[in-house]
Amino acid sequence: MTLLDGKKTSETIQQEIAADVAEIKANGGKVPHLAAILVGNDGGSVTYVTNKVLACERVGFGSTLIRYEDDVTEDELLAKIEELNNDDEIDGFIVQLPLPKHINTDKVLEAVDPKKDVDGFHPTNVGRMVAGLSAYLPATPAGILQLLARYEIETKGKHCVVVGRSNIVGSPMSILMSKPNYPGNCTVTLCHRNTVNLAYHTLQADIIIAAVGIPGLITAEMVKEGAVVIDVGTTRVADETRKAGYRLRGDVDFDNVAPKCSFITPVPGGVGPLTIAMLLKNTLRAAKREVYA
Ligand code: ADP
Repeated sequence: MTLLDGKKTSETIQQEIAADVAEIKANGGKVPHLAAILVGNDGGSVTYVTNKVLACERVGFGSTLIRYEDDVTEDELLAKIEELNNDDEIDGFIVQLPLPKHINTDKVLEAVDPKKDVDGFHPTNVGRMVAGLSAYLPATPAGILQLLARYEIETKGKHCVVVGRSNIVGSPMSILMSKPNYPGNCTVTLCHRNTVNLAYHTLQADIIIAAVGIPGLITAEMVKEGAVVIDVGTTRVADETRKAGYRLRGDVDFDNVAPKCSFITPVPGGVGPLTIAMLLKNTLRAAKREVYA
């Protein structure tokens, strides 16, 4: 069994990005600049956005954090997005989700200029991805592709079972794994909350990608010997022994599943760290105008 070390892979990717930034600077080019909009004070969202901004600084990007209280109006947000769309200094920007209930998330995401949509959530980018055109890929699926590629995991002709159909992870992952590229070229099964007999499907899988947010959902009896298991779940569960008062638990019962696997991601330290690296990579691509070229 080989551990897929997302932390190390993320560091490698960030070093590659930093080297690119140094070269851009040396050539007198414009340094990539990422902006992030954060609404409210949700603990998870604050942590994620703070980490994204810190990561920008580490690789030499410019960064801007724009914060609003929970009661910000949809119009205020849309006006800020319009401003960022037209600001030549900003190469890419993200709106941290979830947004408060009184705001129409779809409307907000659609307001982002697709060329600056480094989260890859705009329907134009989703559509381009489905069509196999150059697009910003959502960061978590892109990170999983990087892990598979950098560990040279064979995917062609394999049966990949994706569990969870969110717009952010499961759905795009299922599409990407079916595309005729490496990593991909799989036969894909997409399972969700209405799947009858989840174990029947996961037992057929050469590659399982679990993105449901239910700790320990995937147990050893559900996994074939030699499978590759990618765990996207990061649910906070109470843990008094930790300083933070919680620890992260994946969708996979790691201790019992790992011995059966050829490759498996740990939680934390698996898919999570790659998400930030791929957001930076998308921002670099935005600054270089590589997408839609
Ligand atoms: P994420 O953003 O990590 O993908 P979401 O909470 O947005 O997570 O999505 C969870 C997904 O998991 C949904 O598509 C849902 O259908 C799926 N799901 C939830 N429970 C189960 C289950 N017991 N078996 C299979 N899929 C499930």
